Parts: sequence; C-alpha cells; structure tokens
Amino acid sequence: MEAQQVAQQVARRFTELYGARPEGVWAAPGRVNLIGEHTDYNDGFVMPFALPHQATAAVSRRTDGVLRLHSADVADDVVELRLDDLAPQSDRGWTAYPAGVVWALREAGHEITGADVHLSSTVPTGAGLSSSAALEVVVALALNDLYGLGLQGWRLARLCQRAENVYVGAPTGIMDQTASACCESGHALFLDTRDLSQQQIPFDLAAEGLRLLVVDTQVKHAHSGGEYGKRRAGCEKGAALLGVDALRDVPHAGLDAALARLGDEEEVRRLVRHVVTEDRRVERAVALLRSGETRAIGPVLTEGHASLRDDFRVSCPELDLVVDTALSAGALGARMTGGGFGGSAIVLAEAADVETLTKAVGEAFAGAGFTAPRVFEAVPAAGARRLA
Ligand code: ADP
Ligand code: MG
Repeated sequence: MEAQQVAQQVARRFTELYGARPEGVWAAPGRVNLIGEHTDYNDGFVMPFALPHQATAAVSRRTDGVLRLHSADVADDVVELRLDDLAPQSDRGWTAYPAGVVWALREAGHEITGADVHLSSTVPTGAGLSSSAALEVVVALALNDLYGLGLQGWRLARLCQRAENVYVGAPTGIMDQTASACCESGHALFLDTRDLSQQQIPFDLAAEGLRLLVVDTQVKHAHSGGEYGKRRAGCEKGAALLGVDALRDVPHAGLDAALARLGDEEEVRRLVRHVVTEDRRVERAVALLRSGETRAIGPVLTEGHASLRDDFRVSCPELDLVVDTALSAGALGARMTGGGFGGSAIVLAEAADVETLTKAVGEAFAGAGFTAPRVFEAVPAAGARRLA
C-alpha cells in the first residue's frame, strides 16, 4: 500500500476511536542490521538500514494529562493512562513502549500535556526487526512535531532507548532507535554508538543486480531475557579486566595481546574476540561499500555469523540452517541479524539466484522439521517521517 493510503487508513481509524480527526500521521520503520551485532552496547560500530515495514501513528494532543493508546494489531480496547501515574516497569504490556516514550520526554523536561494515539504496524514483532523501536520512534517523532520540541533524530533515539531500557525494562543498545529515526532510503547507516556520529553509506542493491533477503525463522527470542543480559555483563567484565571504558577501545591490532591478558577467562575472551573483530568487520564493510565493491561484503557477513555462532554464542539451529543452506545454494554471504536466539537471518545474493535460494531454505527447514520461515526482500527504505 502507498504511504498516503496507509496514512488515510490510520487517520480514519483514529477518527472512529477518538471522535475527531488526528492532528497528524507519522511513520517509523523497522530495521535490519547489515553488520555490527552486539557492538552497540560496547560503544562500537553498527550499520543497519531501514525496512519498508513500518509503524504508523495518528496522534493528537490533549491538555488534561491523559494518554490514550490504541493499536490496530492487538485485541485491547483503548487504554487510558494518566501522565502523572507513568512509572518505570509498572506496565508489562505493549503500552509500555509508547507510554515509556511519553515518560522519557517528560523526564527530560519537555512539557507534554497528553495525547490520543492510534498505532498500526507492518513490522513483524519479535523477529529481530525492531518492531519495538519503530513503535517508540513513531510516537516520539509525533510528539516532537506536535509539541514543537525541536529534537533531532539522534536525540529522539536516545529518549526512546531510555524508554525501552528504564520504562519497559529491556536492556537494549542505541542502534534500533537510531536506525528507525535516522536512516535514509537507498543507504545503510554507519553509526558510531559512542558519540552517535553517523554517515549515510550508499547501499543500492538493485542497481548492482543484487538482492538482500530477510529470512524470519519465526523462532521468537526473548530480548529482555537472561542471555542478552549475560552477554552484556560479560562484555563489561572484559572491558574492566582490560582496563578500558568499553570494548570499543581495544584496537583490532592489539587483539591477540588483549586476549592473552584475559588469562583463564575463557568465556570473556570469546565475547571480547567477537566484539573487537565485529567492529573491524563493520569498518571493512563500510570501506567496501564506499568503493562500490558491494559483492565483496558477502564474506564479511558470513564471517560475522561464524563469530556470533562460535564466539558470542547467540545463534540457534534455525539461524545456522538458513546461513549454511543459503551459502551452499550460492549466496554471496549470510548471517543472523539482531540479538539472536531466533529472529531473522539476512542473505546477500545475486538477483538471479533468489528463487533457487528461497526454495533451498524452505526445503531445508521442512527436512529439519522446523516451522516454515517467512522470506522477504529488504530494500533500504526511509527513516521516520511525517506522512500527513
Ligand atoms: P522486536 O523489537 O525485535 O520486534 P521486542 O520484543 O523488542 O521485539 O518488541 C516486541 C514488542 O513490541 C511486542 O511484544 C509488543 O509489546 C510491542 N509491539 C510491537 N509492535 C506492536 C504493535 N503494532 N502494536 C502493539 N504492540 C507492538
Ligand atoms: Mg525490540
């Protein structure tokens, strides 16, 4: 559906729910991370791009301190909250994401006096494609515009991250929200998560005769679950043992020496090796894309997968099967994307090979007795914006 049609549909539903037309309609996309996994909470590099899948929000201001929330994608009626009652981790449901954004904006000193919000999203949830960030960013951008806050994309992303970390209680890095807020069509976003400096890197697959497939294994990960927290804590331990602020500060050239210093901390050593080599892989991918060698990023992606599987240990049999099958069927490169333990893998392939590859992955899943994966093509799309 065209963006304007989506905007009209969401505005119409808002009007039915709340009895007046919305003041505006906004959209914010989900994302796929091309390379740079589990680096964002180590002050490192990431390179996501935005998906055409997006959350759309119709929003109006209120003046009575009330926040009303509705999502087309869940069974709930309109949920009504009082702004003064918003408190971190008081809400275990989906409304924590948009409510958390309002809470974070008010915490940061911005005057928000209420809102009516109707949301609808085409980003699959729990697939590692950041449906949560899309939801946060679309609400943040709407309130930023309506309340004239004048906050830039990276600043909105920070507030959304705070909403997710503190209000929802999910310890995620800054990549997802920044990607949703700041990506540009036809580009990947090279982001330094330490200072949030960003560069738009041309990533026009179609022009090169290439395709990037997202294979959603439909295995659901639990991001706020313990494994993510354990990896994060392990990375912090590694940084502390090495006497650096963050693993980002371990130079790739000094990796062997750093690993040697970790002594018998075998698990920490694996985590450190992944993070330091992954930062390097992002830099290599950026350099290759800049010099127009798009095909050459394939092996870099595949190396990243091996590192996530063997060193960081966040893959799972379904993700490994996608990668192995795709590579056997002629893919240029493949890797899991997102936090891991399920979710999605990406496959870079020649356009002509897509059909064969998709079939091979489907057959391999059937053969292994896994649920059939959902496969779609990812075209680098626009970041958050106002639609109407
Ligand atoms: P991911 O961001 O990888 O999709 P998360 O677990 O971080 O997975 O976020 C998924 C959660 O975000 C859902 O369980 C739900 O609470 C919320 N969410 C996402 N999209 C919507 C939507 N369209 N309507 C309501 N809640 C949503
Ligand atoms: Mg998420």
